[in-house]
Amino acid sequence: MRRRLGSLALVIGLTAVAACSTTSTASRDALRALSVKATTTTEAPSPPTTAPNCTNPTASLRPQGPLPGPGALPGGSYMSVIQQRGRLIVGVDQNTLLFGYLNPASGQIEGFDIDMLRQVAKAIFGDDGKNQTTHLQFTAISSAQRIPFVQNGTVDIVADTMTINCARDTQVSFSSVYFNAGQRILVRDDSTIKSSADLGGKRTCAAAGSTSIANVEDVNKTHASAPAIPVAVTDWTDCLVALQSGTIDAVSTDDTILAGLKAQDPHTQIVGDKFTQEPYGMAMKLDHPEFVRFVNSVLERIRADGTWTAIWNRWLTPAPAPAPPTATYRD
Ligand code: GLU
Repeated sequence: MRRRLGSLALVIGLTAVAACSTTSTASRDALRALSVKATTTTEAPSPPTTAPNCTNPTASLRPQGPLPGPGALPGGSYMSVIQQRGRLIVGVDQNTLLFGYLNPASGQIEGFDIDMLRQVAKAIFGDDGKNQTTHLQFTAISSAQRIPFVQNGTVDIVADTMTINCARDTQVSFSSVYFNAGQRILVRDDSTIKSSADLGGKRTCAAAGSTSIANVEDVNKTHASAPAIPVAVTDWTDCLVALQSGTIDAVSTDDTILAGLKAQDPHTQIVGDKFTQEPYGMAMKLDHPEFVRFVNSVLERIRADGTWTAIWNRWLTPAPAPAPPTATYRD
């Protein structure tokens, strides 16, 4: 596992507290933020960013027939390559509490994204109780590493709070949408920032390679007289440390990630409406369309049989579970 311990060491005390008490008041407050609906006036229409002929990047490859069992994977398919190898190699975040997070108490990476990958591993290898220890190989990556690590085959699949958009859709192949997030703002309790309109002249932190940093720059187009000052870091916890030390004024990223940061520091608050839509997909290599269809079959199954809702409830209670995102397909 590649570890980027610099930032992790700084926040490990805080994350340990959060890990021990996901039902703490701080966590409950943080998770309530996930129930905030976007307002139609401030929400961006969809994840745009440029790419020719891209109208709906969330339309993924349609599943082909029913999900094959682990004993019936099509010969020559990428799923059977993975099965023969004995391990699904996954790219994940280890710094995002609730979604992909190295729990210092258990030494395990855990969260919503990790549970999505467990479902993929279970479909390939069967339910032999060995998914964590034997069949999943974790590679901890930063936001900026997601696309290159998929493209160069370092990992088979990434599940890392990753927004599907047109620009990325030309570089990797996304599953159907498995989570709908939206960008908001985290500030210290004493901050005067209340929404994206207040970010003018404010040092606003987000991870390099994320849509969030690009969205902060977009905020400037509407507030050009007093531009926000984007501060790009490697990991989301780097933003939290910078907020705590006063070197930045705000963190702006997906509500999901902000909920995890707030749960680690009760002296912060999440403010403003969602001002973008961030539909999450798992990313795979463009060369393996049959694997993308297979993963979409897994998602179909877990949407229908209650597993998706159980995973939401496991990580995001008390935010009430919405209906699972509806998949859209192309052939
Ligand atoms: N969802 C955003 C993205 O895919 C931010 C999350 C992240 O970078 O981890 O860029």
